[in-house]
Amino acid sequence: ADAAFDLKAHIRGIPDFPKPGILFYDISTLLRHGPAWKAAMDLLAERIRPARPTLLAGIESRGFLMAAPMALELGLGFIMLRKPRKLPGATIGYDYDLEYGTDRIEMQADAVKPGDRVVLLDDLLATGGTMAAGVELLRRGGAEVPMVATLIELTFLNGRARIDAPVETLVAYD
Ligand code: 5GP
Repeated sequence: ADAAFDLKAHIRGIPDFPKPGILFYDISTLLRHGPAWKAAMDLLAERIRPARPTLLAGIESRGFLMAAPMALELGLGFIMLRKPRKLPGATIGYDYDLEYGTDRIEMQADAVKPGDRVVLLDDLLATGGTMAAGVELLRRGGAEVPMVATLIELTFLNGRARIDAPVETLVAYD
């Protein structure tokens, strides 16, 4: 991949979304630009390879947009961590706290098995609550999680401190 590739030039900050005072980093502009999306995936792939994953996982829904193409690029399988009641058959879940209330993610009970090395992907790391929950769920299923990875990190929220795994991110905003 081109080391001079400017990923931030393809990410748009949208003020007051989803509520007043929040600056939302929109990756739609990256996804609609073929060469930029490919360059970002190539850069992230080189960060992920050393973790020697046997499987990739993505968190609904923008995490799927990272993990599924990355799985193809690395020649690996892909599993989904989803919002409650979306997955058919037996599932296991993990409940986690939000600023107000709680949330839950689920995966199919047979999605991982002991010995799987699963790298977990999402588009953006903010407080780290979503990623931390994903790591816990994968471990509950018996998998190892040698790395989590995102395109974007909001460093002022120090989300990586909440995650009990190495964290790789391509660009940071503070
Ligand atoms: P956290 O749990 O780390 O606080 O929030 C991260 C989750 O919220 C990720 O699943 C991510 O997709 C979503 N998210 C939070 N803020 C943003 C943002 O500014 N841009 C994007 N694209 N996703 C965000």
